[in-house]
Amino acid sequence: VTWPRSVLPMAVRAGIVVTGTEVLTGRVSDRNGPWLAEQLRQLGVDVGQIVVVGDRPDDMRSALAHLAHSHDLVITSGGLGPTADDLTAEVVGQFQGRPLVLDQQLEKRIGAIVDRLVARFGGTLDPAATAAGTRKQAMVPAGASVLEPTGTAPGLVVPAADGRTGPPVIVLPGPPRELQQMWPVAVAQPVVHAILVAAPELRQRTLRMWGVPESELAAMLRRAGDAFDGLEITTCLRDGELEIVSRYRVQAEPAQQRLADGIRQSFGDRLFSDGPTIDELVVAALVANGWTLAAAEAGLGGRTTARLTSYQAPGPVLGGLVVARRDPADDATAPALARNVMALFGADAGLGISGPGQDGEPVQIAVITPGGEHARSVSVSGPAQFVRERVSALAMHQLRETLTAAH
Ligand code: ATP
Ligand code: MG
Repeated sequence: VTWPRSVLPMAVRAGIVVTGTEVLTGRVSDRNGPWLAEQLRQLGVDVGQIVVVGDRPDDMRSALAHLAHSHDLVITSGGLGPTADDLTAEVVGQFQGRPLVLDQQLEKRIGAIVDRLVARFGGTLDPAATAAGTRKQAMVPAGASVLEPTGTAPGLVVPAADGRTGPPVIVLPGPPRELQQMWPVAVAQPVVHAILVAAPELRQRTLRMWGVPESELAAMLRRAGDAFDGLEITTCLRDGELEIVSRYRVQAEPAQQRLADGIRQSFGDRLFSDGPTIDELVVAALVANGWTLAAAEAGLGGRTTARLTSYQAPGPVLGGLVVARRDPADDATAPALARNVMALFGADAGLGISGPGQDGEPVQIAVITPGGEHARSVSVSGPAQFVRERVSALAMHQLRETLTAAH
């Protein structure tokens, strides 16, 4: 839910076209739209829409027309490859009234990149096909700025041709790493920079609560009347956590402070974070106590162990064990898992989780620290995957609560 419906004042707005039939059909989930949205937010730019289209020129054209209408800047991702179905440069060129012309210097530079790749990875390529692909990638809309390739495909900044109106279009490659490397160069182009300097700072702050129904928060926000004017507040329920994200201009900082204070007053320590994730807080609490941790899970697929051990070593989490056994519910197993895994890794604290992980059946979670032993039984209803995610969230919160109480 988002309050209020109004948009942020003085907004510079960008629209994003993500191209790729693999993204449209869900075989690949879009990483470029969300990444670009956060980069733009950091530059003060509000993203109005992200449109996903397949590799079809007509759909790309209509997405461009749709976004150009109500945005100050349009960004595309994908469709810059050497093959005939990679059409973005051509479609964007047409759209901006700039037909493609061969950039001979660029053709040589791409040729050199391709030669280096072939030399490095070996193999034989048909020289005629390679040359055709290279030439295709060196065809750029007349008058566009070229962004040097970070893979083999160059990006582009394509302003509307003289006599036309409409926002410039930034054209970026599809592979996320290539797109991310090219982004700083794209925003430094004078045509883009001129738009971005008009964007005032757009701040974002995330509060996280645990064990609070969304309706209680909604009631509190309603009672507050106009105290939070100037904030765009989005609440989102995830894995039992309630995430409250506000976006606002600098002048609304006092309203954001009122929101944080109001939530703390109404919900006390159910507000567990002003920024960091629960996983980060667990690691921070271990570090604050000067303790190491080991984890063991039986019957739940290892979600929690993976979360705890995903931090860069050396960290306070020494290791974990995942057992595919399905234990029946009993009070002794989870504490025994915790104690044994502590001994195995020589850790100061242990987490043990045990249960069949089935719809509604009890799961034991035990946390052992130098301060004592805290075990409890939880039960979560739903499909197995849902049960595993929710048990993992419950275990992480039980860990954090135990570790911060001991501190
Ligand atoms: P090139 O063929 O030179 O890489 P391209 O810009 O069209 O040109 P694609 O061929 O469409 O890129 O995609 C290359 C790789 O990048 C594929 O693995 C694709 O799944 C991935 N990719 C493309 N777009 C996205 C996206 N929005 N999110 C995540 N991955 C993407
Ligand atoms: Mg593509």
